[in-house]
Amino acid sequence: MLFSDFALPPQVLKALEQEGYNEPTPIQAQALPIVLEGRDLIGSAQTGTGKTAAFVLPALARLAEFKQPRPRGPRVLVLAPTRELATQILDATRKLGKFMRLNTVSILGGMPYRLQLQLLSRPVDLMVATPGRLIDHLERGRVSLADLEMLVLDEADRMLDMGFVDAVETIVAASPATRQTLLFTATFDKRMVQLTQKMLKDPARVAI
Ligand code: AMP
Repeated sequence: MLFSDFALPPQVLKALEQEGYNEPTPIQAQALPIVLEGRDLIGSAQTGTGKTAAFVLPALARLAEFKQPRPRGPRVLVLAPTRELATQILDATRKLGKFMRLNTVSILGGMPYRLQLQLLSRPVDLMVATPGRLIDHLERGRVSLADLEMLVLDEADRMLDMGFVDAVETIVAASPATRQTLLFTATFDKRMVQLTQKMLKDPARVAI
């Protein structure tokens, strides 16, 4: 199977080639057709399987559809439990999105507010955030999720373990019902069943 078998924009195929991604990993091959079709997804996969690109690629495909007038955004929001993971996701997005004109920002705990307000002063295509700091900005009216088309929860089990369940639910409640939602987790227990029932619509499941 090849990346060019999927409905990915040419700029993204070019970046994949430059990065030396020759063929999709199993999680990518399973997730891409489902997510590109617009369906919600639960992915059970560990780090190291290529799960980041499994959501970054369809997010880029969505962002390649330009909107006029340009929305304030974010159009895509990725929630991650830690600053380190969020930074890796942002790096992957910038690599795979390097032939697209995108404004990608991270909103993380421990960053100076002044810098974040500067980042938020321009339209945002894709935002990677840790839940606590994003809640701060939402409560102060500095971020709106009204333009959100895709919401991704990466390592959702770790976000629950770290006590972010209320923050995640507040963020979901502030997003449009029309959004597409993707959730990645390494483990699936009762809490996760409850969270996914609340947040996802008729999700497909892929596990590797
Ligand atoms: P992840 O599981 O998302 O943390 O990815 C693990 C590593 O695999 C990262 O260094 C990626 O750059 C790399 N990677 C992801 N997808 C592919 C692919 N299709 N071909 C080659 N390398 C990949």
